Amino acid sequence: MSRMSDIEQAAPGAAPRIGFVSLGCPKALVDAERIVSQLRAEGYETSRDYAGADLVVVNTCGFIDAAVQESLDAIGEALHENGRVVVTGCLGARSADDGSNLVRKMHPKVLAVTGPHATAEVLDAVHTQLPRPHDPFVDLLPPGGLKLTPRHYAYLKISEGCNHRCSFCIIPSLRGDLVSRPIGDVLGEAQALFEAGVRELLVVSQDTSAYGVDLKYRTGFWDGRPLRTRFAELVRALHGLAERYDAWVRLHYVYPYPHVDEVLEVLAQGRVLPYLDVPFQHADPDVLRRMKRPANGERNLDRIAAWRQACPQLVIRSTFIAGFPGETEAEFERLLDFVREAELDRVGCFAYSPVDGAAANALPGALPEAERVARQARFMEVAEAVSVAKLKRRVGQDLRVIVDQASRHGAVARSYADAPEIDGHVLIREPAKPSAKARLAGSVGQFVRARVVGTQGHDLVAELI
Ligand code: SF4
Repeated sequence: MSRMSDIEQAAPGAAPRIGFVSLGCPKALVDAERIVSQLRAEGYETSRDYAGADLVVVNTCGFIDAAVQESLDAIGEALHENGRVVVTGCLGARSADDGSNLVRKMHPKVLAVTGPHATAEVLDAVHTQLPRPHDPFVDLLPPGGLKLTPRHYAYLKISEGCNHRCSFCIIPSLRGDLVSRPIGDVLGEAQALFEAGVRELLVVSQDTSAYGVDLKYRTGFWDGRPLRTRFAELVRALHGLAERYDAWVRLHYVYPYPHVDEVLEVLAQGRVLPYLDVPFQHADPDVLRRMKRPANGERNLDRIAAWRQACPQLVIRSTFIAGFPGETEAEFERLLDFVREAELDRVGCFAYSPVDGAAANALPGALPEAERVARQARFMEVAEAVSVAKLKRRVGQDLRVIVDQASRHGAVARSYADAPEIDGHVLIREPAKPSAKARLAGSVGQFVRARVVGTQGHDLVAELI
């Protein structure tokens, strides 16, 4: 049962019970939350184990080969343990070599297969197998819907799909072109989440700074006022909400388009956090062109310098690919230089791995796996030296942190520089005074202040103030 999501269980009753297995990225998690919330609104109960479930929904990922295998294994496990399985998510949209549906080919016994962001289709499949217990009754739900994340942070998906065609990526063929949600809906959901007690909202999409491009920045409405469906307007409105609810907003998957410059002064005020997750993927202009990356101009170093001038406390997280087809030693060295010069705070790196159906597979100059892995290791050595040095500069600072876990003996918290699940932590030591121990133990989901006294790997060590 290790894969089953830790979904809050309903009160006992005779209603059908649904198990849920959720794999994949934060965007897939948002899909899962929508499905679970709707099922609960319709009166279905949820089950934490296969044995107690009348049916299991498996939300899959189809991004890289390892994720495909993990998803296929999860479906197999659910079929073996329960037998009644509905599949949704990115893998559900993928075809096998013979053009048939990959999931159906590998697991013919599944009851239904849908693609990503297909809440209505999943509900139809569940209704067919297990008639709904009674009509929708939204009062069954807490105001923010059911969250699969801890209560104090939540993901907010602002759009689906992507207009780019990066040569290593198959997401556009799985999820289609960019479709932005209306700005009033996005802000309404943000407000409902804050009302429900969320303290940190993580904005996700495939391409956050392209928000509204597909709608030609159409004017929507929020709070009785017209508002354009556009990244900068959205950021300013989220800043206002975060201020009203004493909360944080964190932006993920922001491409360095010129109009991102407009929001740096908002970030400097600290509500929409001075933290940008910018997936650069590479720094050499030729490699970026072969990758067909958006915003692949050679001026990213200048852009970062301008951002830091407007917002000196800015933290930048990024991901990169080492060993892309045709990457020469000189191109790779240019990538290392970029990481040193850009002084990125948080960095991840994948060794290039061919994804079924990606255009990059046809590019000449594929590197042997050993070389790709070796370059990833060289990259991480440089990147880690940079980020550890930056971390050490924080010793002595007083930081506002949000507490994820706590007891009287210490706490695991995060500052504005740490996104949940992907970055480091601020580890708060056991305080000496009994009153401070009690305060710490009761601080989960709250903001506290802590003074940094040291570092430990990618984490900071701090004392409660
Ligand atoms: S920007 Fe590129 S990598 Fe990201 S989803 Fe779009 S095509 Fe894929």
